[in-house]
Amino acid sequence: MARWNPWHGCHKLSEGCRNCYVYRIDGQHGRDSSDVRKTADFDLPVRMGRGRRYKIAAGETVYTCFSSDFFVEEADEWRPEAWEMIRRRSDLRFFLITKRIDRLAGCVPDDWGNGYSHVTLGCTIETQDRADYRMPIYRDAPIRHKIVICEPLLEAVDLSPWLGSWCEEVIVGGESGPEARVCRWQWVIDLRRQCMERGVAFRFKQTGALFERDGKLYRIPRRLQQSQAGKAGIDLF
Ligand code: SF4
Repeated sequence: MARWNPWHGCHKLSEGCRNCYVYRIDGQHGRDSSDVRKTADFDLPVRMGRGRRYKIAAGETVYTCFSSDFFVEEADEWRPEAWEMIRRRSDLRFFLITKRIDRLAGCVPDDWGNGYSHVTLGCTIETQDRADYRMPIYRDAPIRHKIVICEPLLEAVDLSPWLGSWCEEVIVGGESGPEARVCRWQWVIDLRRQCMERGVAFRFKQTGALFERDGKLYRIPRRLQQSQAGKAGIDLF
């Protein structure tokens, strides 16, 4: 697994951004996250190491742009070069997540077609309002590998009008950090039911820091949020 953050910083867009971890971590170091900049790792996928081999070995999954949004407006002038590197490294698997799926059409390279086969482009859905807006755009978008990320899940969300075989997986999680909003077991289970009915894989990735089940509110430390979700044993493959 490799991480590639070609640019850093973002601007807040929707309710799921309120407690953005990029802002939280930058704030601890006195940095302004709204100042979007290219990073020193911009060319990481094509950087060579010893023996003229790529630093990121073939076959790796590259978690891309997790300290920004790949489609943030400020990165428009840098994105074509980033796409070029992605195209060149078709021996890697790139994994990206966006809240700006409505910008995809104007932000893909000329040879994108139905998407590059080595790129998974996930779409974040955190509320019903964002589901109503983003899901039809995402369902119809030319992307080879699609995953819906309901994280942070902030309320009950009905994805069933759009869910179908085009979606490879729905991933669900709560919110982390000291200001975390509650995630409820009932919302998670309801999304699982929707996935089961539509034959879509489902993963309960993490509980978040504040989780409610059967009327009880739990504060869950960061180190246990994934394992606690796993213990629920409700993933569908
Ligand atoms: S889109 Fe993502 S990176 Fe940007 S502010 Fe929102 S949560 Fe943070």
